Amino acid sequence: MRFWRGLFGHFTRDLGIDLGTANTVVHVRGKGIMLREPSVIAIERDNGQSQVRAVGLAAKEMLGRTPSNVLALRPLRDGVIGDIDNVEMMLKEFIQRATRRRDLAGPHVIVGVPSGATEVETRAVESAAKKAGAGDTFTIPEPMLAAIGAGLPVNEPSGNMIVDIGGGTTEVAVISLEGIVTYTSIRVAGDEIDDAIVAHTRKIYNLHIGERTAEDIKLQIGSAYPVGDEQTMIIRGRDLVTGLPRAAVINSTEIRECIQEPVRAVVEAVKVTLENTPPELAADIMDRGIILSGGGALLRGLDKLIMLETEMPVHVAEDPLTCVARGTGRVLEDAGMKRRLRRRFETHSYG
Ligand code: ADP
Ligand code: MG
Repeated sequence: MRFWRGLFGHFTRDLGIDLGTANTVVHVRGKGIMLREPSVIAIERDNGQSQVRAVGLAAKEMLGRTPSNVLALRPLRDGVIGDIDNVEMMLKEFIQRATRRRDLAGPHVIVGVPSGATEVETRAVESAAKKAGAGDTFTIPEPMLAAIGAGLPVNEPSGNMIVDIGGGTTEVAVISLEGIVTYTSIRVAGDEIDDAIVAHTRKIYNLHIGERTAEDIKLQIGSAYPVGDEQTMIIRGRDLVTGLPRAAVINSTEIRECIQEPVRAVVEAVKVTLENTPPELAADIMDRGIILSGGGALLRGLDKLIMLETEMPVHVAEDPLTCVARGTGRVLEDAGMKRRLRRRFETHSYG
């Protein structure tokens, strides 16, 4: 018993973590993606004592469904560290699940952070990872990791544009020679689209629906541009006038219209970034196309809309929800790239 503990007790394993506002994905070096869970934590408070009730999917199921002593929340919501203690507790649980052990001796960790994160925010992520059990830890901007995970030739002297659309933030970046040449980061992404759906059903149907229902509507019938036949869906919520539960039928056209504002904001972020791109690199992007990653890339017709608006080819990355995590995996496996990226982004000056 002692022998085994001695043998494996100091066992370390490198981890890459995509600590997203909506989802956390953990890549374990040599094993691949070992965890994909919503970035949600539920805290239970009883007699002045609080403890973690659930994390991940189990906690997401509790959103909007908790009694007053349980609080289910998304601690990274707006793409920055909102509640550092909750981030830490959630991360600790995720690291243990991904590595299947509680006694891992300080794994080396790479964490993705938004390109617009301040030095303070970056340090907060690093310290949360360390308190959650990580050893040597450093951060790399998410769009860089997404581009690497999407298989773009980031080390060449040529322009690669990645648009990562998550829950809280959309990050647009042009990458060349393993550096970020120009980027735009906005706090408009999947969550704002869900919010627009909540506002629409409230205004048109006097129906109050929860965030989870709004997201379901987006996943089932949402689109940024007309694609295929119109679809309808039955939704349930609480009537704002009577206060009673009620159903309504909504269709894909009205959903497309009601989410126009956030969708436009994403398109504008892409355009602004293109305008700030040096001409040689812009020419490369025209050749290669713009690559979309993150869960928002799966919104139907968004690729088509960006293509029409920018007159550039647009491609959705393979498995867009895991690009950032797969990017960390590739960096962990390439000691040279790992060293270069660490040095480049450590000082927190991009480019
Ligand atoms: P983050 O990196 O911020 O955690 P993700 O890249 O995991 O975000 O993407 C999560 C967002 O993608 C959520 O807003 C979710 O609703 C949205 N999303 C996931 N799948 C789809 C889909 N099929 N269509 C539209 N949006 C989607
Ligand atoms: Mg992300």
